[in-house]
Amino acid sequence: MIQVRNPRTGDIDFTFEDTSPDQIAALTKRMREAQIPWQSLGYDGRANALMALADAIARHAPSITEALMTDTGRKKLAIGEVQGAVGALKGWCERRPDKDLPDEWVEGRAFPNLRHKPQFSPYPLVGVISPWNFPLTLSMIDAMPALLAGCAVIIKPSEITPRFATPLRAAISEIPELTDILCIVDGAVETGKAIVNHVDAICFTGSIATGRKVALAAAERLIPAFLELGGKDPLIVTEGADIERATDAALRGSVAASGQACQSIERIYVARPIYSDFTTLLARKADAAPLNHLSLDAGVIGPIIFGTQAGTIERHMTDALAKGARQLTSKTRQDQGGVWIRPTVLADVDHSMKIMTEETFGPLMPVHAFDTIDEAVALANDTVFGLSGAVFAANLEEAEAIGRRLDVGAVSLNDAALTALFFEAEKHAFKQSGLGGSRMGPAGFHRFLRRKALIANTTTPIPLSAFAEDSET
Ligand code: NAD
Repeated sequence: MIQVRNPRTGDIDFTFEDTSPDQIAALTKRMREAQIPWQSLGYDGRANALMALADAIARHAPSITEALMTDTGRKKLAIGEVQGAVGALKGWCERRPDKDLPDEWVEGRAFPNLRHKPQFSPYPLVGVISPWNFPLTLSMIDAMPALLAGCAVIIKPSEITPRFATPLRAAISEIPELTDILCIVDGAVETGKAIVNHVDAICFTGSIATGRKVALAAAERLIPAFLELGGKDPLIVTEGADIERATDAALRGSVAASGQACQSIERIYVARPIYSDFTTLLARKADAAPLNHLSLDAGVIGPIIFGTQAGTIERHMTDALAKGARQLTSKTRQDQGGVWIRPTVLADVDHSMKIMTEETFGPLMPVHAFDTIDEAVALANDTVFGLSGAVFAANLEEAEAIGRRLDVGAVSLNDAALTALFFEAEKHAFKQSGLGGSRMGPAGFHRFLRRKALIANTTTPIPLSAFAEDSET
């Protein structure tokens, strides 16, 4: 029996049973059988079923949203997750990424009598293991293109935020074509391990530590692992930047969702001539951001969803202050059963501090001064992470020139954390932030299709004598 804490009250108010490895084995066997007719439905048939699923999720929106609100302690983002899932499902179906796939004979060059025709064969069964910070979005993000590609998909949401799974299953159950094709199972670590042991490809979103374990288990089975892991995104602000707008971007990029997002800005590097003005203004704006505290309907800074994370955030604060950082905001940790942490600006930080090198996943804004653009780029790239980053400069040309030098998979120019809002651009997670193909754009669909070649001889078969040592070459 797994116990679940409510992030607003701190009470244990939900329990559920792990799905056992034996249950996963039986379920995945049925899913493999169901995948064959699912693949045979073709793109149009599958798109029709997924459009019907989008409508079913829209009909069940009140119950899914209610559960997500309890899971995460936040309202607007819960509504946005459900609307986003409906819109993204329809978008994938309408975009027709299958149209990019060639389906014609290609004449051979080395052997003119040989030709080949490319085929695209889905991984029969894909596993999705998701984290707690955006429970629905990150459960569906890889599942949608995988289903469309013809895969069956088994999803295990995080055990920290499991409540939304039951109403989501109710929506899925209204689409008969999806029985044993899209299955959501409850569980924690052992269920996650069992899934990796039974699927043909695994999509994992979560921490680097767990991602490494998943990658090792996948390597043992020689299946691909698509990993989307942690981040420590830098924002560089140049001397010519508009401070008013740059501080707005820094604040939203750092503390939206209370900093509990992989693409949150976690480090800010500011040109020394504007450092003092920038930090003063950022601190003023941070202090003015209201907590979404006693009522779900007011304020913007919600609770820390995972209690243990609050401890990590506090440890990074304490470590930075002990090493000489200055706190510019009136940060308070407010406990009311759940834990709320105010947006906090720290000046005079350096890379000896955990707050500049480890993922904090909270609403902290450490600000570091720089003297040259080369120094700023070197500091931004001085990390094991490479998820994304941002540059705020005097103009787009200056921002682009710096963005090209950042060793990350996506860069927001003259704004911050745009990858949370814009899913059309293909991007990889660099360095330890991930592994595998882009989950965004057409590549997000193509990665679930294995390439297969039909190779035809248009004349007589090549005889064994062609390989005789005395034959002409
Ligand atoms: P986590 O790694 O602790 O857990 C993620 C999932 O893995 C959970 O469902 C958990 O039950 C499961 N799991 C744990 N051990 C497992 C194992 N051995 N085998 C299989 N499954 C296992 O991550 P979390 O704390 O839930 O999420 C926060 C992390 O996720 C942060 O590091 C954040 O940056 C990252 N994240 C990344 C992205 C991205 O797109 N790059 C998006 C959101 C969150």
